[in-house]
Amino acid sequence: MAFNLPVEQIEELRNTKYNATVVELKKAHSDLMIVRVKPDKAIRPHRAGQYTLLGLGYWEGRYPGCQEESIPEEELTKLARRAYSLSSSILAPDGSYIKAEENDWNEFYIVLVRETGREIAPALTPRLFNLEVGSRLFMGEKITGHYNLSHVKPDDDVIFFSTGTGEAPHNYMALEMLRNNHQGKIISACCVRLGKDLGYREVHDVLMKKAPNYKYIQLTTREGDPSKKRYLQDLVRSGELESILGSKLNPAKTHVYLCGNPAMIGAPFKHLETGVRTYPQPEGIIELLESRGFNADLGHGHAPGNIHFEEYWS
Ligand SMILES: Cc1cc2nc3c(=O)[nH]c(=O)nc-3n(C[C@H](O)[C@H](O)[C@H](O)COP(=O)(O)OP(=O)(O)OC[C@H]3O[C@@H](n4cnc5c(N)ncnc54)[C@H](O)[C@@H]3O)c2cc1C
Repeated sequence: MAFNLPVEQIEELRNTKYNATVVELKKAHSDLMIVRVKPDKAIRPHRAGQYTLLGLGYWEGRYPGCQEESIPEEELTKLARRAYSLSSSILAPDGSYIKAEENDWNEFYIVLVRETGREIAPALTPRLFNLEVGSRLFMGEKITGHYNLSHVKPDDDVIFFSTGTGEAPHNYMALEMLRNNHQGKIISACCVRLGKDLGYREVHDVLMKKAPNYKYIQLTTREGDPSKKRYLQDLVRSGELESILGSKLNPAKTHVYLCGNPAMIGAPFKHLETGVRTYPQPEGIIELLESRGFNADLGHGHAPGNIHFEEYWS
């Protein structure tokens, strides 16, 4: 639904600014979706784990029940654009691995941000959640990012930690490794509020039967008994992660990937002169793992460590 601009102007804006079409859309529930977007031009080569931009015009209507927005008139003809990791459903309907390079669409896993907790309302997701199959939108041609598997060797263990839709790049990276017959273990742990917030749960169940070296761990913080709420940090502290891995965490042959909520990640501030790292509190995964010999890549791939991370907001 459009507002404030004349219909002809909106039509013209959509024609000039949009370059992609929604070809599939599945809502896990009203606020969580997996969407496939086909660009008008061919998809550029990229690595699993990278991201691109999605955008919709400020002239587009907002999903009901979201924070009220006030936009200056001169902004109305512009696009709201945000970064989104490329995701993957990993398995094709026949149970084989998806051949990502043959797809003419990119898959995204997106949660509706209804409120920012600040004065400025969320711009894009309240608009994305009005999309339907056939809807037009903007998708960036460039697919980029340092968050990828370039430092992983075939027999390394790989551990993915995510909150919510932060699992998106991990699904694509797991696909890349499994298709390349990765020899090390692959553990993907995802923390959400409720079980229904795990949009790919069924895929992971099937995948664990197909790939013996793949394990998906789901943690919830608002389901059932509040005393049973578990965070990803608990998984490391309790030793449960190591018992799932079947061995001690070994920084020499393990890469850890962290994606989503910055509080879970806990990226340290590195003092420029002394090199001393100061960690945010409460303790995030980076502090926990650096105390066990791991080293976070704070240089965006320039001085690669064995902890890699992507924060979805700051
Ligand atoms: C590299 C990268 C990849 C990303 N990939 C994904 C993805 O695959 N799926 C996805 O759902 N999001 C992803 N994001 C977040 C995405 O870019 C948007 O920030 C998010 O969709 C909210 O957009 P918005 O315009 O609705 O809200 P904005 O106007 O951008 O407001 C965002 C503010 O809302 C708050 N907020 C609450 N929950 C969230 C949340 N889950 N994400 C972001 N902000 C939140 C924060 O305070 C944040 O500053 C990614 C971000 C980055 C930097």
